[in-house]
Amino acid sequence: MAEKRDYYEVLGVSKNATPDEIKKAYRKLAMKYHPDVNKNPGAEDKFKEINEAYEVLSDEQKRQTYDQFGHAGMDGAFNQGGFQGGFTDFGDLGDIFGSFFGGGFGSGFGGSSRRQSNQPRQGQDRYMQMRIDFMDAIFGKTETISLEVDETCKHCNGSGAESPSDVQTCPTCHGSGYVMSQQRTPFGVIQQQSVCPDCHGTGKKVSRSCHVCHGKGYEHKRVKLDIKIPAGIQTGQQIRIAQKGERGTNGGPNGDLYIEIIVNPHPTFKRENNDIHIKVPISAIDATIGCTVQVPTVYGDVDLKIPEGTQPNTKFRLKGKGVKSRSGQGDEYVEVAVEIPKKLSRKERELYEQLKSGQSDSPFERFKRAFK
Ligand SMILES: [Zn+2]
Ligand SMILES: [Zn+2]
Repeated sequence: MAEKRDYYEVLGVSKNATPDEIKKAYRKLAMKYHPDVNKNPGAEDKFKEINEAYEVLSDEQKRQTYDQFGHAGMDGAFNQGGFQGGFTDFGDLGDIFGSFFGGGFGSGFGGSSRRQSNQPRQGQDRYMQMRIDFMDAIFGKTETISLEVDETCKHCNGSGAESPSDVQTCPTCHGSGYVMSQQRTPFGVIQQQSVCPDCHGTGKKVSRSCHVCHGKGYEHKRVKLDIKIPAGIQTGQQIRIAQKGERGTNGGPNGDLYIEIIVNPHPTFKRENNDIHIKVPISAIDATIGCTVQVPTVYGDVDLKIPEGTQPNTKFRLKGKGVKSRSGQGDEYVEVAVEIPKKLSRKERELYEQLKSGQSDSPFERFKRAFK
């Protein structure tokens, strides 16, 4: 097995990071490397590494154990169980930890993890990103995505048994989920408590498997989900879809799915919260004597009166023509870019000359006078 990186390093947090900081760092990284989003080679391994680190650091007890023993203990634990099977097999981790640390180190939490192992636990959350068009972010949209998800089997409600009477107490461990065994380790021969090989720690035995899920308790499905994107959404906002994350364990519910929205830029409109900014070119003549222009807004063109003597880069406000979101109604700001002609026809030149000769005082002459 390759050299393992420090879990804190993997998540990029300090050793005294709070649970909240760990969760935040995890979300950010998981989103970046999720195999649904990131197709780069190595992304999946990275994703597994992140999940592995989070699984340990997000659990107070496991984190304590890790702080105390480091990877020395953890590696064995991961090899022993189904970690190679991928991050969806995380449900077993609690049991593996229980068996590894429960007896040998006598650290005292063997008892509590035994109690925990049979308890229903919610699955991990999943994260993905979705790119949407500028206009869809403004007006909202329903986007249908296709997703693979493990759903609790409806026939057996996750028990894996054909009927409730097909569930019996495991005869090997008498329902405890654990068996005792002796093992030779670098620390000597130790009495070790390990997960019951017969029932895999559930303490139950199914005599007749559910015919729908074949005893697994869940069905792996590709489902179509209608994601309602609310009007006014912005880049970085997340939509939560309940219980479409990784499957839970021992009948626990699935985790949630979080979709982070990324809004594509628009060639003309720039958005700043609920306001929209646009730059329109007008000629020097129009700026000088005034005009009316049809300015694009997200709701269609709107007449805007440019008054006589408008200066370059003046901003006009079109009230209520911005984005309407839950936080309010924005405006559109129109900035005029005054364009000076680069080439004149002979006729135009003559007209400009006429204007010039009629000019009483030029700005430059006024400027020079100020020095005297
Ligand atoms: Zn058993
Ligand atoms: Zn079933």
